[in-house]
Amino acid sequence: MSATTLKTLQNVFMAQSCPRNRHLDTQYRRDRCAPDMCNLLPTQVGKCAWTSISSMQLHHLAKYKSCTWNRKTVYCNAVSATSTTPMEKVDFRKLQNGSDIRGVAVAGVEGEPVNLTNLGTEAIAAAFAMWLLDRKKPDASRRLRVSIGHDSRISAQALQDAVSRGIASAGLDVIQYGLASTPAMFNSTLTVNEEFFCPVDGSIMITASHLPYNRNGFKFFTNGGGLGKADIKDILERATSIYDKIYVEGFENREKTDSAVKKVDYMSVYTSDLVKAVRRAAQDIEKPLEGFHIVVDAGNGAGGFFAATVLEPLGAITTGSQFLEPDGMFPNHIPNPEDKAAMKAITQAVLDNKADLGIIFDTDVDRSAAVDSTGSEFNRNRLIALMSAIVLEEHPGTTIVTDSVTSDGLTTFIEKKLGGKHHRFKRGYKNVIDEAIRLNSVGEESHLAIETSGHGALKENHWLDDGAYTMVKLLNKLASARASGTGVGSEVLTHLVEGLDEPAVAVELRLKIDQNHVDLKGGSFRDYGEAVLQHLESKIDGDPKLQKAPVNYEGVRVSGFGGWFLLRLSLHDPVLPLNIEAANSEDAVKLGLAVLGAVKEFSALDTSGLDKFVQRL
Ligand SMILES: [Zn+2]
Repeated sequence: MSATTLKTLQNVFMAQSCPRNRHLDTQYRRDRCAPDMCNLLPTQVGKCAWTSISSMQLHHLAKYKSCTWNRKTVYCNAVSATSTTPMEKVDFRKLQNGSDIRGVAVAGVEGEPVNLTNLGTEAIAAAFAMWLLDRKKPDASRRLRVSIGHDSRISAQALQDAVSRGIASAGLDVIQYGLASTPAMFNSTLTVNEEFFCPVDGSIMITASHLPYNRNGFKFFTNGGGLGKADIKDILERATSIYDKIYVEGFENREKTDSAVKKVDYMSVYTSDLVKAVRRAAQDIEKPLEGFHIVVDAGNGAGGFFAATVLEPLGAITTGSQFLEPDGMFPNHIPNPEDKAAMKAITQAVLDNKADLGIIFDTDVDRSAAVDSTGSEFNRNRLIALMSAIVLEEHPGTTIVTDSVTSDGLTTFIEKKLGGKHHRFKRGYKNVIDEAIRLNSVGEESHLAIETSGHGALKENHWLDDGAYTMVKLLNKLASARASGTGVGSEVLTHLVEGLDEPAVAVELRLKIDQNHVDLKGGSFRDYGEAVLQHLESKIDGDPKLQKAPVNYEGVRVSGFGGWFLLRLSLHDPVLPLNIEAANSEDAVKLGLAVLGAVKEFSALDTSGLDKFVQRL
C-alpha cells in the first residue's frame, strides 16, 4: 500500500470515527432549534472604523491570536486542516480562483501540500471583515455581523472556527449556521428577521463545491451579491499584510479577550421560504405535491435538507432518496450534476423507485439537475431549455443569458419555439449573472441567467444562483399543472422541452498548454493561448465551409458541417477547452480536423486528445 493511500485511509478513518459531529450536522433536517448563544470564541469589542491596514489595526489583529492559539478545537470532524506548522509562509495570491478562494485544506494527497491553513484562514476572514468595514459603517445600535456556513467537507469545522476567530478579532459579530448551502448564505444578507440576527452585513460560505475531499475554500456575499474578482484580490492582499505582521511579531504578548458567537438554525428560515414559494404557485394548497414521488441525490454534500424540509412538508414521497447524509469523503459519487456517474446514480434511483422526478445537487447546492420519470435528464442544454420555457411563459419575449458552450439547437429552441432571445455570453456563473443584470440596467429585460454547469439565477430571486430554487421552479410547474388540471407527473416538464434539437455527438476535449515549453519563449500561457485562437480565426476566415459566429464573446465559435465548435481559453488554467457538437460522428470529426489543422503547429499544445478523436472514424 502506498504512503498516499495509507494517509487517505487514515483520513477516512478519522472522518468516520466522528459520529457525534455528523449527527449535529444532520440534525437540522428535522429539528428546528431556537437561536442560542454560546461562548466559543475570543473577540475584541469595538475598533470598527478601519479603513486600511494601519499598524494599529494590525496590533488589534495580533492581540487575538494569543488566546486562539492555545485553544483546542473540540470538533472531531475536522481532520487536521492545519497540519502545517503554525507560521508556515502562505502565498495568498495562489488561493484566488476567479471570484472564489480555493486551496488544499487537508494533508495526505501526494503533491498537494496544505496551503489553506487555519491561521491563513483567520487572516483571510479578518481581511474580509476589514473590507466590509470599509464599505459599511456599523450604526450605534449594533455591530456589523457576518454569517458563516459550510458544506460537508472534513475540514469544515476547523475552518469554521478559524473564520469565526478572524471575524471576531475585527470586532464583528459572528453568526454560525453550521451545515448550509451557498445560496442560503447569500439569502441571509437579504432576510429580515431579527430573531435570527438577519439581515447579516456579510456572509461566508466554506466550500470548494465539487472538488476532491482535501480541498476547501470560501465564497463571500453582501446584500449586493457575491464578491467579484477584484474584491477577492483586495481581500487576499489585506490577508497577506495581516499574516506577515503576525509572522514578524510572533504569537507571544497577545492578550486574551472574551466574546460570544451566536449559532442559529438559519436553514429552517431559508427552507420555509422555498416551501412557501411552491405553495403560492399552487394557489396556496398546503400539500401541493401530495402523491408525487420525488427522489433526491445529495451526493453526501449539503443538499440532503431538500428531501425532509422542502419536499416532505409539501406532501411529496421521498423514499429512495440517496446520499442525503453529509460525508466529506464523498464515498458514493462526486456531488456534481456535470459528473456522468452522478447523473447515472440519480437516473437509476428514479427508475428503481418508479419515481415521478429525480433531483440532484452539487456539494453546496448552488447547482442542480433533474431526471424525469422515464430517466431522461434535465441537465446542461436540456435544463436550460426547460427553465427557459418556464420563465418565458411568465415573461414572454425575455432574454435568456447563458454561458458560451450552449448549443445552436438551444438558440433555435429559445428563439423560434419559445419566442425569447438567447444571449450566449461567457463561461463563469458570475459572468453570466452580471451580464443579465447589466442587460436589465440598459433596458433589455432579462429574467434568467443560467450555465450548462447547472448554475441558474432568476431576477425574481435576487439573481441568486440557487440550485434549490431552480428545482423549486420545476416543482411549481408540477404543482400548478395539477392544481389547474392541466397535467400530471413529470410529463408536464418533458412536454415543455419537446422540439429541442439535441446533437448526436457532443464532446469537450481539453488541450493543455505546457507552460515550460520553449515555444512559449518565456511568455505567459494566456498570451500563447490567445495566439492559438488568433491563428485559428485567420484559418477559418479562408475556409468557405466554415462560418464564424456573428456575435461571440469568448474564444472562436464556428458553425459548419451541420454542427459547431468552440475553442476558448480556460478562465483559470493553462488549457484550451474545445467543444464540438454535430449530428453524427463524421461531421464531428470534420470539425475536429478543421481545428487540428490550425493548431498543430503550436508545439506547446497537447493535442493528443484531439488526434485520437479525429481518428475515431
Ligand atoms: Zn457549487
